[in-house]
Amino acid sequence: MKKLGLTTRIMVGLALGILFGLILSPFSKTPFVKDVVIDSVLAFFGGAFINLMKVMIVPLVSVSLAMGAASIGDIKKLRRIGTKVLGFYFATTAIAVAIGLFVAKITGVGKGMKMGELPVGEFKVAEQDKLINVLLDMVPKNIVNAMSEEKMLAIIIFFLLLGVAITALGDKVKNIKVILEEANELVLKMVELIMEVAPIGVFALISKVVASTGVDVLLKLVGFVVVTLIAFVIHTGVYQIMLVSMAKMSPIKFFKKFLKVISVAFSTSSSNATIPVNIETLSENFGVSEEISSFTIPLGATVNMDGTAIMQGVAAVFIANLYNIHLGPTQYLGIILTAVLASVGTAGVPGAGMLMLSLVLKQAGLPLEGIGVVIGVDRIIDMFRTVVNITGDAVCTIVVARSENEITDMEKFNN
Ligand code: ASP
Repeated sequence: MKKLGLTTRIMVGLALGILFGLILSPFSKTPFVKDVVIDSVLAFFGGAFINLMKVMIVPLVSVSLAMGAASIGDIKKLRRIGTKVLGFYFATTAIAVAIGLFVAKITGVGKGMKMGELPVGEFKVAEQDKLINVLLDMVPKNIVNAMSEEKMLAIIIFFLLLGVAITALGDKVKNIKVILEEANELVLKMVELIMEVAPIGVFALISKVVASTGVDVLLKLVGFVVVTLIAFVIHTGVYQIMLVSMAKMSPIKFFKKFLKVISVAFSTSSSNATIPVNIETLSENFGVSEEISSFTIPLGATVNMDGTAIMQGVAAVFIANLYNIHLGPTQYLGIILTAVLASVGTAGVPGAGMLMLSLVLKQAGLPLEGIGVVIGVDRIIDMFRTVVNITGDAVCTIVVARSENEITDMEKFNN
């Protein structure tokens, strides 16, 4: 029998995981199911897969980024690519919040609901560091610390610098360049090998989420969940328009080739954990040069969070409606601005967007207690918004790569 392709195996893992989670769900409070099945077996296999993906982030990003910068070798070009991609990242995020606000406003989500009848979970308001400290933290001061703590922006700056220095020195360091190129092949191969266990990891992660999310909470907040999902779907329309008009690529083809990355994002709820497979897929399935993707994907996983911004927009309107607070045009504008900034500050890890929601609510003068309500369904929404987040990174990367003639393999791009 022919071995099924990896993407198909991952999708089977996903479907079986949902099924298994649903079967477990009614028993999720019994000690055996909770302690042994959910919190031990599923937690181990799911956690192990996330760890394996994460262990590749620093090696892959550092090596391919240095190699990429060394091959581009032209600071002006690097600057141009950086500016372009950041422009796309910010513009798409602003559109994303606007879509979230619009859909939430016209559906009136949360209107008529009574606070007392809703489950209120615990939440921690994010401690806000001074902006200057946040910015300073992006400038690398200790590369070992930056790598061990996955400080993406610091890592990006350091290895870009290394690549530029390699170019500047030219033949004097030609061996290092060769070593980097070979190391890059190696780490990509390692990602490919790790992806072989993805079906099991995805199965475990999904069944754990499905089994432990209370159906009652989901039913009570179904309006909020559905409105958020609708806004996600509408926003993918923006990506489709970008793909067709700027990259000359059919969206159906894109999503087919991108399914593997989507399922990893969906099950891990982490843009960071998805970085390795995103870079690998863009290169293997779309022929995008790693010189571009090794720079834009980690950057996007750190600053570009369209799904998170949408959730924050919808949540703000939902909470305003819940508390019968009227939002005027200036508040809407304020929400757009803060949600764009808050999504930039959101780390690519599960649940981070919810912590940053406090910033948006505070700015709009909305009660922070509202977070306690929406947090009940956050795990579910997080899976979808992470998919939107990383899809945005990939689409902007493809568009920029196309405009820079950095699709190195047009056959892979068109196939
Ligand atoms: N989990 C999201 C991500 O990694 C961030 C968020 O919580 O919104 O992209």
